[in-house]
Amino acid sequence: MTKISRRAQSLGTENAFVVLAEVNALARQGKDIISFCIGQPDFPAPLHVQEAAIRAIREGKHGYTPSAGIDPLREAAARYMAGMRGGLPIRPEDVVIGAGAKPFIAYAILSTTDHGAGDEVIYPNPGFPIYESQIIACGAQPVPVHLREGRDFAFDPAELEKLITPRTKLLILNYPHNPTGGLLSRKELEAIAAILQKHPQVWIYADEIYSRLCYAGEFFSIAQLPGMYERTIISDGASKTWAMTGWRIGFASNPVLAPVLTRWITNTDSCASQISQWAAVDAINGPQDAAEMMKKSFFDRRNLIIRLLNGTPGVSCRTPGGAFYAWPNVTKACRMIGAADSEEFRKRLLHEAGVALLADIHFGARVPGEGQHVRFSYAASNEAIEKGVARMADFIRRNTKKAA
Ligand code: PMP
Repeated sequence: MTKISRRAQSLGTENAFVVLAEVNALARQGKDIISFCIGQPDFPAPLHVQEAAIRAIREGKHGYTPSAGIDPLREAAARYMAGMRGGLPIRPEDVVIGAGAKPFIAYAILSTTDHGAGDEVIYPNPGFPIYESQIIACGAQPVPVHLREGRDFAFDPAELEKLITPRTKLLILNYPHNPTGGLLSRKELEAIAAILQKHPQVWIYADEIYSRLCYAGEFFSIAQLPGMYERTIISDGASKTWAMTGWRIGFASNPVLAPVLTRWITNTDSCASQISQWAAVDAINGPQDAAEMMKKSFFDRRNLIIRLLNGTPGVSCRTPGGAFYAWPNVTKACRMIGAADSEEFRKRLLHEAGVALLADIHFGARVPGEGQHVRFSYAASNEAIEKGVARMADFIRRNTKKAA
């Protein structure tokens, strides 16, 4: 009898896509749903980027490319990534172009750990669900490091230090962070780097896909600290910065691992879409006013949603320093309406009030002692934000009365 492998059965998922299917089904039934589920900019890709893609098609630039990407994009990405990170010595040959930044998560784990050898990977919890899913599927040991609300959703470097063993091979960092919007401060990064100096076998995967959406000042990468550059795989891309999620363009850089990452791509996608690659060249080299406008708009919406959430009964929300996510604490609201946890809260909010969110459990096991949270992706119109949070406040008030 045919069987599905244990590896395939162990594969996790991104519940944003599962909830999205649920939301779409309700919408098809004619339900009025305001959705804050999906983590992508609500803007089209800039016009000059669209034009570049059309030009590439017309000029016949749509065959395979080298697995590492076309030279003009590797050059542009190297310059861009270095410029965003204090002038790191990133050369075009250190940069690999992928079909999005996401595939590099698996390639990094596959390139730094051995299957079934007990190799450990430390990753943020809550966190982007693909980290844990791929660590397990690749046959490594997942070791979560807990993010703390009291630290604005950074983790405590002392907690990290306790988790590192001789078997630790990779540390995944992500800031600005999905799902909390949190950052790691320069001081925290320095503490992390000092710890890693004592453990030279540990690689770093710096998931910096939200580097351009940093509201607290200039972005700073751990790779900028002494001794960290050579061991850090920096991952960035076009999805969030230029609203190009469906175009599938990511960039990863590391002076040692670039050829290894390239070989993985030869074994999987062959290359990223050539059309999208030419468009990304223009995204990087062309005018940045659309990217700046989007950032400004996310910043304004962050301020709006945080103000509204903090005026909602039973809800409190830290001000996130980046990305387009808010991670309100709804522990009290759950108690007020008699919901057992954030997932019951989320489901009832969707079905009874028409507001679609994700719950903390979609981003890993709940951190003990940190309470109940939900995630808003606020890449939505001001009107949707105002209406959505008002519906949530009304839902909590209505059900509190009932519970009382
Ligand atoms: N890392 C994080 C933390 C993300 O949130 C996302 C997108 N949701 C990605 C990586 C993947 O982005 P891409 O579209 O470039 O594959």
